[in-house]
Amino acid sequence: AAKEAGKNNYVLFDLDSHYSRKERIKVIEQMGTALEFGQLELYYQPKIHFGKQRVEGFEALIRWNHPEDGLLGPGHFLDHIEYTEYARKVGNFVLGDAITRLQEFQSNGLPYTISVNLSPSHFLGPGFRDDLEAALCDCPIAIRSRLILEVLETTALDDTDRVLENVSACRELGVDVSLDDFGTGYSSLDLFRRLAAQEIKIDQSFVFDMLENPDSDMIVSAIISLSKSFRRRLVAEGIESAQVEAKLIELGCELGQGFFYSKPLPLKQALDWAQRFEWQNRDTRNDWVI
Ligand code: C2E
Ligand code: MG
Ligand code: MG
Ligand code: MG
Repeated sequence: AAKEAGKNNYVLFDLDSHYSRKERIKVIEQMGTALEFGQLELYYQPKIHFGKQRVEGFEALIRWNHPEDGLLGPGHFLDHIEYTEYARKVGNFVLGDAITRLQEFQSNGLPYTISVNLSPSHFLGPGFRDDLEAALCDCPIAIRSRLILEVLETTALDDTDRVLENVSACRELGVDVSLDDFGTGYSSLDLFRRLAAQEIKIDQSFVFDMLENPDSDMIVSAIISLSKSFRRRLVAEGIESAQVEAKLIELGCELGQGFFYSKPLPLKQALDWAQRFEWQNRDTRNDWVI
């Protein structure tokens, strides 16, 4: 029986890897077309400033309008293209598109920031600084300063020197850096201090269960005090209830995102959502009182 189980396990494992290899090949084969025919689209999730009750900006999250498979989230394709030429191509598409949107915001008098996620191989790759400079082209500082580049904490641990160098490059170009999924890697306090990232995003896994799980609560509290001591902006992601929002505010967190407010939406809908939010909360704000 043991032998049989072992054999079955082997067959299952083999089928799995066969399946994912086929998926990977399919994704890589189709990504060129996806880019060329505009099948990739950024969705936008609002980032809320609790105290001001305002939308501070949006995080851009990629989707693939696949002609046969429908709307695909990044979990279906980003890993497959990592470390292929498409990691950089898709990264540059995302940067370019976000900057175009920021230029539109600027001409329409909208003060929002846009946060963009960068893949490890793009951010750590040799061409990153050039790509960022090319994408920013001759954008004025008013626009550059509204772009935030999200880099995974685990990326920062992968090649520390390159990350320190590229974070400084971003700063020189007037762009902010945010450490995403913070708490899931194991940054030392020393690395944290040396990294000139202006923003930290607490990983959603801690936020999800911070009301039930004292360990998560403690981790969130610790990250909040860390960010305050180092004067970094702090964002909590994965807020799904008013109770979690209240707890985060109590702990001193100022910014958050989550399904409690809105899921990621196509740009037009996200902007409509933001307008409604600001209108509905006009009474709880007092910053307009003369
Ligand atoms: P992330 O940057 O940490 O983004 C947060 C993810 O959590 C998003 O999933 C978002 O839709 C989801 N989310 C937001 N609020 C909630 C909530 O309250 N509850 C739950 N359950 N989920 C929430 P998504 O869009 O599937 O993206 C997954 C990851 O894929 C992102 O994690 C990011 O690391 C990566 N990603 C997304 N877009 C891009 C991109 O354009 N480029 C790169 N390189 N990576 C991207
Ligand atoms: Mg992110
Ligand atoms: Mg995250
Ligand atoms: Mg994540």
